[in-house]
Amino acid sequence: MISRNPVDREARILILGAGPGGLSAAHFLSRHGFKNVTVFEKLGRVGGMCRSVTEDNQSFDLGAIFVSSAYREVLRMARCVGAELERFEGATAFVYDETSQSARYHDLLPYVMGGSSLSAFCRFTGLCLRYLWKRYRIRKIFRRPGWAGIDAHPALCVTFAEWLDHNGLEDLNRLFEIPVTTFGYGFLDEIPAPYVLRYMGIRTFLAMLFSSAPFARLLPSFLVAQRFRYGFQRFWERVAWDLNIRLNVDVKKIERREEGIFVKYTHPMQMLGDEVSHAEEHARFDYLIVACPLLLEELESFLDLTEEERWFQSKTRFIPYAVASFEIADLVLPMPVAFHLPLPSFDQPMIIAQQHRENELMAFYARLASSEPTAADELRLRENIERYIGALGGRINEQDDWHSYDAWLYFKHVGVEEFSRRYFDRWEEAQGKNRTFFVGGLFDFDYVEGIVRYSRYLVEQHFAGRAGS
Ligand SMILES: Cc1cc2nc3c(=O)[nH]c(=O)nc-3n(C[C@H](O)[C@H](O)[C@H](O)COP(=O)(O)OP(=O)(O)OC[C@H]3O[C@@H](n4cnc5c(N)ncnc54)[C@H](O)[C@@H]3O)c2cc1C
Repeated sequence: MISRNPVDREARILILGAGPGGLSAAHFLSRHGFKNVTVFEKLGRVGGMCRSVTEDNQSFDLGAIFVSSAYREVLRMARCVGAELERFEGATAFVYDETSQSARYHDLLPYVMGGSSLSAFCRFTGLCLRYLWKRYRIRKIFRRPGWAGIDAHPALCVTFAEWLDHNGLEDLNRLFEIPVTTFGYGFLDEIPAPYVLRYMGIRTFLAMLFSSAPFARLLPSFLVAQRFRYGFQRFWERVAWDLNIRLNVDVKKIERREEGIFVKYTHPMQMLGDEVSHAEEHARFDYLIVACPLLLEELESFLDLTEEERWFQSKTRFIPYAVASFEIADLVLPMPVAFHLPLPSFDQPMIIAQQHRENELMAFYARLASSEPTAADELRLRENIERYIGALGGRINEQDDWHSYDAWLYFKHVGVEEFSRRYFDRWEEAQGKNRTFFVGGLFDFDYVEGIVRYSRYLVEQHFAGRAGS
């Protein structure tokens, strides 16, 4: 691995976006002694899709929740800032019958195993061991963050459904639909295999299996899923304490010239009654790190994209994924998480989560039909939630106005073709051109550990002048 010349520790570095990508890049820059790092965040909070709320002194995650013992970088940062984790275990499934408009719970394991007999169990265990063995054999490919060189492994440059098929593992489809499709990463015949294989490494695969097993409580924490006790967003807030973050910044224009990066932006200056007045500012930086997964049109509305950058961005896709939360009366889920299985179609909740069993607040996760989410999608989702909740015996507590709705353009990714066409090698070669770098899920996989690992790699490679770990 080539090591580059280190960047001057006094360089002025601007990071756009205070989600996991931007904050981890700022954190690693600070650890390497960079003193002039500024993060501009569009919203009034940090964390991006790690969004948490607190109600009745209990924290709820309405975006990212899970961490496994494979999240080595995230766990290291958590220890560094003193953020506590707790176990998150127990899952069930429910089925909704359209004809009778009734719903009932069913066990998750017999569903994913394809039966509850001893022979189904033995067959399923054999398939899981086979997956673990296959994954173990290709572990070296996934050691390095990012995807440079992935085209040298044509057997991986297929959809995940094809990969399962080629490896005699097609009967694990139902199992993988849970952490992939219900978690917003698309159907197994859409998502390129490398993404799932990176995400479902041995530890995360075991944590996923064991967290929903009836004996989960007996297992040590490193074998089950965990969450931040005060929420994922609070963890990022704690990381942000040591960084220079400017919130509510609206970037109007960025021009990249030989002499530097010139930025025009506005920020709230003062409030008179309900009126907020904004000040316009100009600033100059030496380097830019883009850490906000935006659509091409959004990005080019303020950034002078080059032809090559426009081409990279034009290949990317998103999945529209929404999270709504309501207070639900007269219903306690048997487990903190209930999956809607078999999988429903768009605009219907695929997951219901009741993170604290004694609290009525529940979150509903759904893939949306439209790639540009509208108010009609929100309404359709609410109607479906009402139907399922009604069928399970509960109702939306209308007296309480606690409600949230976020429609994310989630999982920035490319199709399988790009994996075999050196798309990521070209990106790696382009990092640093025009004093600009890009971080975030696109460059690894859209989960927090992958993003943090890539940020560290980028900082070590391009700023600290070291070969990445
Ligand atoms: C419902 C849901 C559940 C999830 N569950 C998990 C999980 O359990 N475990 C896990 O590891 N991952 C999970 N994820 C994925 C994880 O949240 C994302 O991978 C991660 O948040 C992406 O980080 P990012 O920094 O690339 O982007 P983001 O989180 O989107 O952050 C980007 C930031 O940039 C800001 N921004 C946008 N435009 C601008 C601009 N013009 N100027 C300045 N700032 C801007 C945004 O406001 C945002 O704060 C989940 C995601 C969702 C949506």
